[in-house]
Amino acid sequence: MLNHLDQVTLLERDRFHAGPSPRPGVPQAQPVHVLLMRGHQILETFFPGLTTDLTAEGALLLDWTADWQFLSPWDWRPKHVSNLKSLICSRLLLEWYLRDRLLQMPGVNVQEATTVNGLTVSSDVTRITGVNRTTSAPAKLTTR
Ligand SMILES: Cc1cc2nc3c(=O)[nH]c(=O)nc-3n(C[C@H](O)[C@H](O)[C@H](O)COP(=O)(O)OP(=O)(O)OC[C@H]3O[C@@H](n4cnc5c(N)ncnc54)[C@H](O)[C@@H]3O)c2cc1C
Repeated sequence: MLNHLDQVTLLERDRFHAGPSPRPGVPQAQPVHVLLMRGHQILETFFPGLTTDLTAEGALLLDWTADWQFLSPWDWRPKHVSNLKSLICSRLLLEWYLRDRLLQMPGVNVQEATTVNGLTVSSDVTRITGVNRTTSAPAKLTTR
């Protein structure tokens, strides 16, 4: 990302808490989520050590054909070990981890309590020039 830009600011309506805590903007975040294989592989490339770190925090790396039990219309599918593995954890945990790793990158920051209302465009409507936003006072800018 920062190969292309000097600075990245993430605008977020919610305020973040320390750790993987619930917040209103993602009511679905607490239950278990499955990070499907390709997404997991891509995230591990961007954030080396992600799998080790998240499993240390309680995420599970499960083999789709050995650790899950599937019932087909005919019978339970036989179990066998494969390389088809997915990371299982709450979205809260994944999001908190990724946010922390992102904020370690120079030039990345998060502006909390800020609602994006729309985009602003150039007068010839060929370029996006910014965003219209509303910030609840006091907005909190998180950087490292
Ligand atoms: C019941 C359920 C189960 C799910 N299970 C899985 C699963 O197993 N695996 C999986 O990969 N995905 C799953 N998902 C989807 C997953 O939870 C995410 O919602 C999805 O990946 C989209 O994530 P997102 O961060 O792009 O958007 P969202 O989750 O919608 O997050 C949007 C973020 O933007 C903020 N925001 C919204 N509007 C504004 C605004 N105007 N200005 C500023 N900030 C704003 C919100 O506060 C929030 O932080 C599930 C979803 C549900 C509902």
